[in-house]
Amino acid sequence: MKKYDLIVVGGGFSGTMAACAAARDGMSVLLLEKSGALGGAANVNYVLPFMNYNYRNKETNEKRPLSKGLFQEFIRRMFAMDALLDEPCVHFNEEYLKMVLDDMTTEFGVDVLFHSTFVDAETETGEDGKIVVKKIRFLNVNGMMEAEADRFIDATGDGLLFMNAGCEYHVGRENDHKTQPMTLCFRMGKVDVDRYYREDKKKVNVLWKEKLAAGELLNPREDILAFRHLTSDVLHLNSTRVLGDPTDPFERSRAEQTARKQMLELYNFLKENAPSCKDATILSSSFEIGVRESRMVEGLYTINTQDILECRKFDDAITAGNYDIDIHSPDGSGTTHYWIPDGDFYTIPYRACVPKDAENLWVVGRCISSTHEAQAAYRIMPIVACIGEGIGIMTAVAKKNGRKNYEITSAQVRESMDARGLVEGH
Ligand SMILES: Cc1cc2nc3c(=O)[nH]c(=O)nc-3n(C[C@H](O)[C@H](O)[C@H](O)COP(=O)(O)OP(=O)(O)OC[C@H]3O[C@@H](n4cnc5c(N)ncnc54)[C@H](O)[C@@H]3O)c2cc1C
Repeated sequence: MKKYDLIVVGGGFSGTMAACAAARDGMSVLLLEKSGALGGAANVNYVLPFMNYNYRNKETNEKRPLSKGLFQEFIRRMFAMDALLDEPCVHFNEEYLKMVLDDMTTEFGVDVLFHSTFVDAETETGEDGKIVVKKIRFLNVNGMMEAEADRFIDATGDGLLFMNAGCEYHVGRENDHKTQPMTLCFRMGKVDVDRYYREDKKKVNVLWKEKLAAGELLNPREDILAFRHLTSDVLHLNSTRVLGDPTDPFERSRAEQTARKQMLELYNFLKENAPSCKDATILSSSFEIGVRESRMVEGLYTINTQDILECRKFDDAITAGNYDIDIHSPDGSGTTHYWIPDGDFYTIPYRACVPKDAENLWVVGRCISSTHEAQAAYRIMPIVACIGEGIGIMTAVAKKNGRKNYEITSAQVRESMDARGLVEGH
């Protein structure tokens, strides 16, 4: 196999946009994905909708997108295919999403390898004492294969590449390392969805709380979280909740089984208590349980709660967001929200995507360098897509200028983001 300028491991929103952005700037790019489609959690975990990516500018009162660039290009294509329901929380049909991402990667010239699971990395120590990733090995229908590149991006969500390369990382809350719970999303068909929202939603939530308080439920979640789907009689449920360490393969496997029991519990509960669900069936559950949080790399900068709540504007910002700190309790019941001031936004610094101990590796998506609380804000799909685009662009800048990841200056980041108008307020 040829040597690439860049290998991106993981084809979620962050990895796919990183690959597209780097290829657009002339890099030869291999994008490795273990499933058979791009989109990451939107595909393998049935995650929807896109959480809010717009804000109201205080001076002009104008509604403006914070997630720009390739993500907006993606949204335009989805609207053109009639694959989105509404704004600003955009419900989408993931079947179209997969095709749009196929088109975008093809048009930008990214080599995509599906059904290919990253296994390990070969590394050396550079002159500066930092880790240099030389090649990766991955498993697919051809057996074990390997590929070489000058630069790498870890977009696996779980930090598999940086962990394997030997970079430092942390997991979960600072005091006890517990992470946000895992959730198996599932769908119920033959539901009168309008009636559910009109007549049943409030009532079933009261009853659910009573049963939870009486200790009659397996599921510790405090309410029933449901969304519409593009198919009008389908109700999408993001409402199972399983505690456990997602980096422990046995706990993650047990979580799948526990979540399926919770799915059946929710289904029976709704069928019995919500007239809108009396004829419902379980339509499908996602291929894998969704993991909100696992490993996070130790970066040159670690985003913290104050950065998010005080809406810090970094010199090396690669994108912006205003989604609140939304923590599904690592202890069971409860969801905590810390809101972002109306009309304002926080930014994501380039340095949070640079491992402090590697020189040719970047990290994008939900496993960049941050605290447990800060991660609970920027982890949404529109923001991670833009983190991916920003870093994809910067890998091309690193190549052009012969720079290591940590030698990129804030001025170079600013110039590159401004050239494409990617950061609000710049
Ligand atoms: C249950 C749940 C509900 C959520 N709800 C919302 C919501 O409503 N709206 C919203 O905007 N966000 C939501 N989020 C957050 C959002 O979905 C994720 O934070 C985001 O998708 C992370 O993107 P990513 O690119 O970092 O990782 P992912 O989307 O997880 O992508 C990682 C990719 O890497 C691939 N991969 C993993 N290991 C390997 C390997 N060894 N080799 C090759 N490929 C590999 C995976 O198959 C996957 O495609 C939710 C998350 C969860 C779990």
